[in-house]
Amino acid sequence: MVNLAQKDYIIVVQCDIVKERCPGYLCEKAFHERTGGFKDYPEDKQYRIMNLTCGGCCGKAIHRKLTSFLRVAAKKEDIKKDSVVVQLSSCMTKDNFHALPCPHLDYIKALIGKTGLDIKEDTVISQSAEKRREQGIYKSNEV
Ligand code: SF4
Ligand code: SF4
Repeated sequence: MVNLAQKDYIIVVQCDIVKERCPGYLCEKAFHERTGGFKDYPEDKQYRIMNLTCGGCCGKAIHRKLTSFLRVAAKKEDIKKDSVVVQLSSCMTKDNFHALPCPHLDYIKALIGKTGLDIKEDTVISQSAEKRREQGIYKSNEV
């Protein structure tokens, strides 16, 4: 269980392919309203938040991006690893109308795990998509 009160910095990782079209507004809105994958973040706490993409299939670039972030953030502001959490966007973690979850999800989580950063899953969660997942309408129910 990630201690969110201990965190100051959120890095939202989004699917590189999806981000060719998606501005990420619904992820930002979910954070702003503390819904979906952000529902457990305290409302009265200010967080810094940054968006990255996985870098494209197979997601290997995420390790370099995060290690670069950790190195520079530590140097410039003494930001500690323990104060950072990585939030994987729902377009990576959830089955939906457009696509199945990322086929490299476990690999990406393992890469992030190598950086020592905590990971949380999901960002925006659509009520109707959630209902369809529960009803088994989407073929994959891995998440
Ligand atoms: S979860 Fe939705 S809003 Fe967020 S990046 Fe993916 S497609 Fe865009
Ligand atoms: S590795 Fe997964 S999250 Fe990244 S671009 Fe490919 S499908 Fe999207």
